[in-house]
Amino acid sequence: MIAENVRQLLQELPREVQLVAAAKSRSVAEIEQAISAGILIVGENYVQEAELAHGLIGAKVKWHFIGRLQKNKAKKAVKIFDLIETLDSLALAEELEKAAGAQNKVMPALIEINCAGEVQKGGVTPQEAEGLIKAIALLKHIKVMGLMTMGPLSATPEQYRPYFRETKKLFDALKRQGLTNVEMRFLSMGMSDSYRVAIEEGANIVRIGSKIFGPRESNN
Ligand SMILES: *Cc1c(COP(=O)(O)O)cnc(C)c1O
Repeated sequence: MIAENVRQLLQELPREVQLVAAAKSRSVAEIEQAISAGILIVGENYVQEAELAHGLIGAKVKWHFIGRLQKNKAKKAVKIFDLIETLDSLALAEELEKAAGAQNKVMPALIEINCAGEVQKGGVTPQEAEGLIKAIALLKHIKVMGLMTMGPLSATPEQYRPYFRETKKLFDALKRQGLTNVEMRFLSMGMSDSYRVAIEEGANIVRIGSKIFGPRESNN
């Protein structure tokens, strides 16, 4: 079941689009099944869950952090993850900078954009993005590699489209600026119900959970 879902997705996705298996609340055995079928990147929302899975699975796949990162978890996150997709404040960036410096590592990160202006969600507004990126670009052990967005919770895939389009516009504008120590390479948008629209609007990373692993029991 999981293996078949992965194969179908890999067949469907354009070659230049990277598939992240969003693994929150899934067992290590389920994640292993997905990897056997061709998953190369695992997305984790919780550092503690990721520590367990990473400890057993290791570096045969890449690990992306896609949840809300607490500052006191920065050290562990820097150790485990290949990309932090949800960087959204200078305070968090400074914490990651400290941890990455101590570990002699440059931590790649995406800036999370809250394009619908939902106050309860993470991310910065499109207007705040440039200022934050310029400030983070001064930190030597963090490398901004692009943008990520969730989009608002929507009833239909089409309702995501304007938010994805706006985030792509911002991505292109930032890319044109050619900011020092910033590389606008990755645009992470789209989940199980919205990845097709996201790819049409320019995503090159999609984060997919339930379409790989089946419906989640709780709604976290
Ligand atoms: C859970 C989650 C996903 C995947 O959601 P599905 O609807 O299960 O595909 C993608 N991105 C983030 C940030 C998530 O938390």
